[in-house]
Amino acid sequence: METVPTTEVVFDADYAMTIGGIVTETFAHIPVIDPANKQVFANAPDCTTEQLNAAVAAAAVAFPVWSVTPYAERQALLTRMAQTLEAHITGLSELLTAEQGKTLRDATVEIGTAAYWLRETAKLIIPETINDSSDGHRSVTRHLPLGVIAAIVPWNFPVLLAVFKISSALLAGNTVVLKPSPLTPLTTLKIGELMQQVLPAGVLNVISGGDGLGPQMTAHPGFAKISFTGSTATGRKIMQGVAPQLKHLTLELGGNDAAIVMPDVAIETVAKCIFWASFANSGQICLAAKRIYIHEAIYDAMRDELVRYASTVKVGIGTDPATQLGPIQNEAQYERVIDLIRDCRDNGYQFALGGMPDDTAGYFVPLTIIDNPPADSRIVREEQFGPVLPLIKFKDIEDAIKQANDSEYALGATVWSGDADAAARIASRLQAGSVWVNEAMALSPLIPFAGHKQSGLGCEAGLAGLLEYTALQTIGVRADAATWFGIAGL
Ligand code: NAD
Repeated sequence: METVPTTEVVFDADYAMTIGGIVTETFAHIPVIDPANKQVFANAPDCTTEQLNAAVAAAAVAFPVWSVTPYAERQALLTRMAQTLEAHITGLSELLTAEQGKTLRDATVEIGTAAYWLRETAKLIIPETINDSSDGHRSVTRHLPLGVIAAIVPWNFPVLLAVFKISSALLAGNTVVLKPSPLTPLTTLKIGELMQQVLPAGVLNVISGGDGLGPQMTAHPGFAKISFTGSTATGRKIMQGVAPQLKHLTLELGGNDAAIVMPDVAIETVAKCIFWASFANSGQICLAAKRIYIHEAIYDAMRDELVRYASTVKVGIGTDPATQLGPIQNEAQYERVIDLIRDCRDNGYQFALGGMPDDTAGYFVPLTIIDNPPADSRIVREEQFGPVLPLIKFKDIEDAIKQANDSEYALGATVWSGDADAAARIASRLQAGSVWVNEAMALSPLIPFAGHKQSGLGCEAGLAGLLEYTALQTIGVRADAATWFGIAGL
């Protein structure tokens, strides 16, 4: 029976980075704000250039041993990481709610899902492919770890999105320097400390800092790969940043996912599904449904049911057990969402629900539904990443498919219908990395997901996601050089 560390971390202590297995403090700090009341409640370390160099060096020192640690041992350590998260789920969830704003229930689900993700990812096996095994010759392709990985994470799911990266990177034999968003660094820093009870020193380093730290990491010559989740605008900068050194790159970027609702759906059921596909985490999900195309035959009924259901959902402080959706996580995102609501108001679009906020104690935005705005409106064209949802009426499915595909983004999409086969045929014509029928955001550690167009490069999760943290090597062995015929008949 494995022993699981159960020493409870002290969550009101100062927050520190973990570099080479050592708890590392800084002189300078960045303030961390509770989005439910806009108050600074903690300070996180502001990593110096020397400390970044130390973290990369520690990961580089750990790499040669970690990369040849037996695969089964790395699998077992991922499982122990999962157990460690579970052993500390209460304190970690409370901290996540305080810094991110999501409800305590959702924070607990996030930590629990991160543990599940580690455990399931550990079951993946990296294959070796035998290309040729004829008399006197064999060719084998295998997948080698890359080295030190920079993992850069946004603020909407700070823990789960970090675990997407570190689970695959570590299992494949890489070492990691993980940087959470400056807006939500605390839970990740605590997890960095906790994981030192499980992992060898230097295998997982966690640093935090202000806006300058990400670009410094991108440019740092010690990283073999940058694995980034965040906005498309930052993704472009990162691609430029890594170009001089030709680093490996995974980019999981923004989305503007379309949902198509066919006339044969059960309205009450599907309205509830659409609501949660769009408004979960207060709309701050890359794969949330962000524009809903509804057939004209049911448009009014679906809109009214969505409004009715949304009116029953309580928005409030994450620690209140009655709350179902929390505030927007930060001021910049709040301003962006408000700007989109203002644009709808100023252009005279119809509000089926919500509007400008009146509670300004925290970054709270009323659940807002815009009734059939024009196709070229900002709320349809842009990624809102907040609780403001445009509903668009369609008559002809060909037109709905065309509109759904008319976006620079192509992350996810959904189709809702009583006829799953017909919906699957529509799904196959939608331009997106993940398309779901009668379900949404059905992510799994065993299923890869990827963004097309401006939504990303590469993928995460599943075997394909695991292999993103490896470089392919083919070894050809000929028993006797005398049988080699050379190139082009030489
Ligand atoms: P962001 O791009 O502002 O920041 C993400 C991370 O990158 C943060 O850690 C930030 O400090 C860092 N960063 C900022 N500038 C950098 C630079 N020049 N070089 C290196 N790092 C830099 O994104 P955000 O506002 O934190 O997150 C919201 C965005 O993330 C949305 O667009 C959302 O769709 C996207 N997102 C995508 C996925 C996905 O899997 N495709 C998942 C979640 C969120």
